[in-house]
Amino acid sequence: MNTDKRTEIATLGEFGLIDRLTEPFGTNNPQTIKGAGDDAAVLDMGGDAYTLLSTDMLLEGVDFDLTYFPLKHLGYKSVVVGCSDIYAMNGRPTGITVSIGVSAKLSVENLDELYEGIRAACEDYGIDLLGGDTRASVTGLVISISTVGTVAKDKITYRDGAKLHDLICITRDLGSAYLGLKLLEREKIALQGVQNAQPRFEGYEYLLRRQLKPEARRDVIEELATQGIVPTSMIDLSDGLASELLHICRKSKCGARIYLERMPIAREVNKLAEEMHLDPVTAALNGGDDHELLFTVPLAMQDKLMQFGYGVEVIGHITEESTGAALVTPDGTTIALKAQGFHGN
Ligand code: ADP
Ligand code: MG
Repeated sequence: MNTDKRTEIATLGEFGLIDRLTEPFGTNNPQTIKGAGDDAAVLDMGGDAYTLLSTDMLLEGVDFDLTYFPLKHLGYKSVVVGCSDIYAMNGRPTGITVSIGVSAKLSVENLDELYEGIRAACEDYGIDLLGGDTRASVTGLVISISTVGTVAKDKITYRDGAKLHDLICITRDLGSAYLGLKLLEREKIALQGVQNAQPRFEGYEYLLRRQLKPEARRDVIEELATQGIVPTSMIDLSDGLASELLHICRKSKCGARIYLERMPIAREVNKLAEEMHLDPVTAALNGGDDHELLFTVPLAMQDKLMQFGYGVEVIGHITEESTGAALVTPDGTTIALKAQGFHGN
């Protein structure tokens, strides 16, 4: 190791760091079709389908706070995060491995709860628990889930296929999970040291559900198949719309224009944002954890998209690379999009 030079990780950022670490790697096996760089790795094990593999890690204190995140929900959400990455390749998840680092403050009953949630998600998404690893942790609970799946070779959708004039589509509303988190944090602070404390959540149940019990959009992937639509590119929204759209632009070597008035923002997001003096548009652009799908389709698919039963919103279109990615406000002002992954995973 070269000890003379020290570069702070912050100077590269998360994605710069991943690029730097993975860039020197080639492939040693013909089965490896795609390594790091998309929502899942792609393996060709023969036949008409590719095997997909994705891995995610959730850390206590970084990705969740056990004072307000029930363990059952945490288990469920950990599985959803992995399934969402497989759907983002237009695939179907089939199994998971679950590795946990367990701190001494958790009891056997606590872990039963975590696994109850994991089991419920396995049932809901029709996937199997394939194994894992169990270790002691001195830094809080660690959950790492690897998800395998499958996709027909002619249906696979990468991040890099968006073409000029394609429509940019999003599967539902933005910023709700982030505002759900803000609400949970607000109530945690407000109730510290209060006896028999009752948090104030009325009217915001939807935001809590989006944070505590997110869903991966299997319904959308099935509907795309029914309508005979194969998106030109797709990514799931884990770090916020701006960051994920910039990934599509970078990989597809294109620009994008999205329109503020087209962005689906739930009524509850606007209401809580006003109450908490937050900007709902920033929440919609940069709030993480929504686990919706962002995808592009050729302009000619517009009519088919209208048949969609799942509230897909067309929020803009793909432009030349030189124009960059921009948000257009109702008065015509153009704002360049910046990536601000909100919790750095
Ligand atoms: P997602 O948000 O979809 O889970 P990430 O942004 O975490 O994806 O990762 C982007 C890509 O980089 C993925 O293909 C992932 O497998 C890869 N990747 C992330 N971290 C590492 C790492 N430490 N080593 C190798 N590949 C990584
Ligand atoms: Mg992803």
